[in-house]
Amino acid sequence: MSDSILDRRWPWLVAAAAIVVAYLLSTGNQAEPGSGPADPRQVGTIDDLQQLHERDDVNVLFILIDTLRSDRLGSYGHERETSPFLDQMAATGVRFDRHLSQSSWTKASMASMWTGLNPWRAGITRFDHVLPEEAEMPAEILRDAGFRSIGLFRNGWVAPTFGFEQGFEVYNRPTPLGLKRGVLAKKPTLSKGGTDEDVTASAIEFLRVHSGGRWFLYLHLMDIHEYTYDEESALFGSHYSDVYDNSIRWTDTTIKVLIEHLVDQGYAENTIVVVASDHGEAFSERGFEGHGRQVFKESTEVPFFFWLPFKLGEPVVVESRSRNIDIWPTLFEILGVETSRPSDGRSLVPDIVAAATGTEAPAADRTGMAYLEMGWGKRNIEKQVTVSVADDSLRYVRTPIEVDLVEQLFDASLDPAELKNLSETEAATLARLRSIADEKLAEPPIFGEMPTREISEMELNQLRAIGYDIGQ
Ligand SMILES: [Zn+2]
Repeated sequence: MSDSILDRRWPWLVAAAAIVVAYLLSTGNQAEPGSGPADPRQVGTIDDLQQLHERDDVNVLFILIDTLRSDRLGSYGHERETSPFLDQMAATGVRFDRHLSQSSWTKASMASMWTGLNPWRAGITRFDHVLPEEAEMPAEILRDAGFRSIGLFRNGWVAPTFGFEQGFEVYNRPTPLGLKRGVLAKKPTLSKGGTDEDVTASAIEFLRVHSGGRWFLYLHLMDIHEYTYDEESALFGSHYSDVYDNSIRWTDTTIKVLIEHLVDQGYAENTIVVVASDHGEAFSERGFEGHGRQVFKESTEVPFFFWLPFKLGEPVVVESRSRNIDIWPTLFEILGVETSRPSDGRSLVPDIVAAATGTEAPAADRTGMAYLEMGWGKRNIEKQVTVSVADDSLRYVRTPIEVDLVEQLFDASLDPAELKNLSETEAATLARLRSIADEKLAEPPIFGEMPTREISEMELNQLRAIGYDIGQ
């Protein structure tokens, strides 16, 4: 019996605090670009990608960058150098150029991503909803396939309180280590709850001491959500939107340090590193700031890319539409992990192969939905849904405003900012996308009545501290 206790008590958890201090003293966050260990990965091909499922040694490092809209990354066309390291990662792997999150606040979006179900099907749409036991989570599926699963998070919406720990052997919110000297800026309204270095330091320690066995390591980063950055990342100004770019630059460096340790520990050639986000952020494009209030482009277009245990000689960019609900079906296929759980998503491997070979991807439903219950953070409020449908370059958005449902239609191929409403001039297209929305919304929830949970005042305050007005 004592054996099993010892098995479960991983030394890295016990030792983490002391070692983390040593790590922070020994490594500056700001390594020079180009320094660090060389990337040892061999050049591989798309055939190698399709053969990965035959290997039994491939790990998954899943980096979830909270609140990252794709158009603020260089690889997605941003003119500022916010993301040199992430861009370099994307350029040696597979990047999805038009990728959509299924909601615009963390819990609804993460529940959808993890379950592969649209938000109204997964059922996690309000602040007090809890993922039910019967939801089959990726960590459970990977555990059953022989992975050891570890989750490290700093966002209370994915805490065990809400059922997100299912399948993880260790699921932990790292203790804040305090702000390092030089880390100066935060959204002034937010509490000082540490930085993502708390997460990456624990992750680095895990990589250092883990021996043997496949792993799935999920890191949920929050510095961009909290507008954290240091002096050296303060390159782009002090306006709200500029500070957001500063914090992307800071996060880029945090991830660079993490990946250098991954390479150092010999994991470069047997790890898939996934980078994804749960939603974007609005900067008054149409009167809103922040997220969780609407489902327009700026709140729902997010990055998704991964690097592989080998470099692809030519970067593969998938331009057909993809969605967060597709991420796990894609990873399961690449890893050769079988699951029979219900899914609204699909594997993107055919789209990757088509992009890599310059052929046409097979026909599939690539329509992306984003869904938000207005007032999701309030008690006893009537359900009002805003929804958007992304179909190629088109986006239909339906918003309840007082007693009306306001419909808008945008075409990003003509109007990249999606500010010119075509609903009056393109009636047939509007009707087509409206009926897609209605058909999809008619699909029933998978888990029936959603369990809710009384959330303590302390937990509510923790969530309020990261900027949410909830539970009133
Ligand atoms: Zn979030």
